[in-house]
Amino acid sequence: MLTIKNLHATVEGKEILRGIDLEIKAGEVHAIMGPNGSGKSTLANILAGNPNYEVTEGEIIFEGKNLLEMEPDERAKEGVFLAFQYPIEIPGVSNATFLKTAINEKRKHMGLPELTPKEFLDLMKEKSKILGMDENLIGRSVNVGFSGGEKKRNEIFQLLMLDPKLAVLDETDSGLDIDALKIVSNGVNVFHNDKNAVIVVTHYQRLLDYIVPDYVHVLYKGKIIKSGGKELALLLEEKGYDWIKPEEVELE
Ligand code: ADP
Ligand code: MG
Ligand code: MG
Repeated sequence: MLTIKNLHATVEGKEILRGIDLEIKAGEVHAIMGPNGSGKSTLANILAGNPNYEVTEGEIIFEGKNLLEMEPDERAKEGVFLAFQYPIEIPGVSNATFLKTAINEKRKHMGLPELTPKEFLDLMKEKSKILGMDENLIGRSVNVGFSGGEKKRNEIFQLLMLDPKLAVLDETDSGLDIDALKIVSNGVNVFHNDKNAVIVVTHYQRLLDYIVPDYVHVLYKGKIIKSGGKELALLLEEKGYDWIKPEEVELE
């Protein structure tokens, strides 16, 4: 589904990603861990097409197509979804309007008719129930006045509504208490199937008790320095990152 080859990227002239290789197949869950500032959000944002990040080398192939040539909205329509580490507020645009527009744009792209109002309402009811969302959050402006936890839950609501092929979740667990963490993880697990893939970016092993990864990768200073199975996350929890840091890490 996704092949990343030798990806290098800069932000404001500073090299942040320094040669990432990653291969993700349908049906898989990959966790990306690593200390603060290692480039996890940079990678997530580059997949979604955030123009603040410049790819200077390498390629990203998604479903046989060159992802880097597509605009962010095209990527979304092709099935790439990013749940933000810091979800943004959109005053004046209700959650319902936002999602209806996004879903219908995607359906148009796929040659499908728009959802009828009833179909849309039924879908919202079904998905919001999975996340135990307060119904009045749906009518409110996107994320405006939402608590940190409600914003994170709303990201996963969007995930369930949009049903992408590739879901990239950037620290969706941060700011969630343990009950909310279980509900949100369950939402991701309801979403996940053999035809889609999930990239979970997280600092904490705890999330991976609920969303069980097939592979864990450690990102450090813009490189994947170790990959393994889910047991790697447990080792990191126990031992931290120091033991796998390479002896000398060439900067610049
Ligand atoms: P992580 O998500 O792993 O904590 P990030 O990808 O957010 O790391 O950041 C990696 C590095 O890139 C950090 O040093 C950060 O300060 C820098 N960086 C990220 N985004 C920007 C930006 N928009 N402007 C300047 N520096 C940035
Ligand atoms: Mg799986
Ligand atoms: Mg981050």
